Amino acid sequence: MNQKETQRLVAKAEKLCEHRGARLTPARREVFEILAAETGAIGAYDLLDKLKSAVPNAKPPTIYRALDFLQEQGFVHKISSSNSYVLCSHFDHQHPVQMLICEVCGSVQEIQSDGVYDALRKQAEEQGFKVASQTIEAHGLCQQCDI
Ligand SMILES: [Zn+2]
Ligand SMILES: [Zn+2]
Repeated sequence: MNQKETQRLVAKAEKLCEHRGARLTPARREVFEILAAETGAIGAYDLLDKLKSAVPNAKPPTIYRALDFLQEQGFVHKISSSNSYVLCSHFDHQHPVQMLICEVCGSVQEIQSDGVYDALRKQAEEQGFKVASQTIEAHGLCQQCDI
């Protein structure tokens, strides 16, 4: 993501936070910007390394608190299978998440398919299970890597 696009997203996130009465502190904002600059998902410790260039006294709790906040606000998705984080590409609305994760370059693409969401929810209901949220992670090869 280029600088201009990053700034646009930061501005959008700031506005949303203001609207919700949440505070995008400098550390949270910094983590957001780092995630926006990544093409793939990034682990908490790599994030911490990068954060330290802007916030030298940053500690692991700084990162985890910032990530918790960003996830609560719906700005960031956690990828459980690799324990890493990725910026949501359309965070102004809550949505079911399907992620395409490239096993070679690590890029993450989000897709939103209501069909997939509905099918899963319907089958879950048949089992008497109520779905609160769902994140589907698909692993494979992206267009660039599949040559
Ligand atoms: Zn998303
Ligand atoms: Zn790839």
